[in-house]
Amino acid sequence: ARTPLIAGNWKMVLDHQSGTLLVQKLDWTLKDAKHDHDAVEVVVLPSHTSLRTVQTLIEGDKLDIKLGAQDVSAHESGAYTGEVSAAQLAKLGVGYVAIGHSERRQYHGETDELVKAKTAKALEHGLVPIVCVGEALDVRKAGEHVPFTVGQVTAALEGLSAAQVAGLVLAYEPVWAIGTGEVATPEDAQEVCAAIRAAVAGQFDAATAEAVRVLYGGSVKPASIASIMAQPDVDGALVGGASTDAADFAAIVRFR
Ligand code: 13P
Repeated sequence: ARTPLIAGNWKMVLDHQSGTLLVQKLDWTLKDAKHDHDAVEVVVLPSHTSLRTVQTLIEGDKLDIKLGAQDVSAHESGAYTGEVSAAQLAKLGVGYVAIGHSERRQYHGETDELVKAKTAKALEHGLVPIVCVGEALDVRKAGEHVPFTVGQVTAALEGLSAAQVAGLVLAYEPVWAIGTGEVATPEDAQEVCAAIRAAVAGQFDAATAEAVRVLYGGSVKPASIASIMAQPDVDGALVGGASTDAADFAAIVRFR
């Protein structure tokens, strides 16, 4: 069975001080609730500038909260000013990395080709990619959301082995539901997450599709998480705004 995963994408919101404070509060809250981290995995995705501080806290206090980054370079190393490599992240104890978030596709021109290269590079260094996909409102209105999103998944995973795909995470984040308060219905989330899993079965095999975790993201809040998690093909959530509030994020982690 797939272990549910709740990941908090802090985006460019928290700095290293507010970030460590949030992780401390989150940890206390989850400990109070006797949260079983093997039953529901918890990951936070700080800005690159906060990774080291949060990592020091997690390692020093032996927290069960896991660390992820929001982006990674497709390049190995060298003259790429401003970029951060997968090797640098791995050395810092980062376990996960979001790749191809819609904000990077939209504002930084990230293409399916680049997302594929970043995914391969992350895997090469032992990071678990959280590959983000999802359609904009015009695509949804045209009724093309399933083929569009499946196309992004297929492009990102091209050339990988079944074993590599089984271990990674896909996140369906419809762009129209991100930061808008407009959460997709549980049925909307299920429809696309199931289509993504079916596409993985076609591109690889049934066992790989059964193993790969598919998250939903877009205006997830404590009140909406349970019905989303009740969907058979939704294995967790990628949370933006609500992940920068310790109580809200803990409530989402404790969706059951
Ligand atoms: P919100 O939860 O703020 O809508 O953001 C979703 C998201 O983009 C997570 O990566």
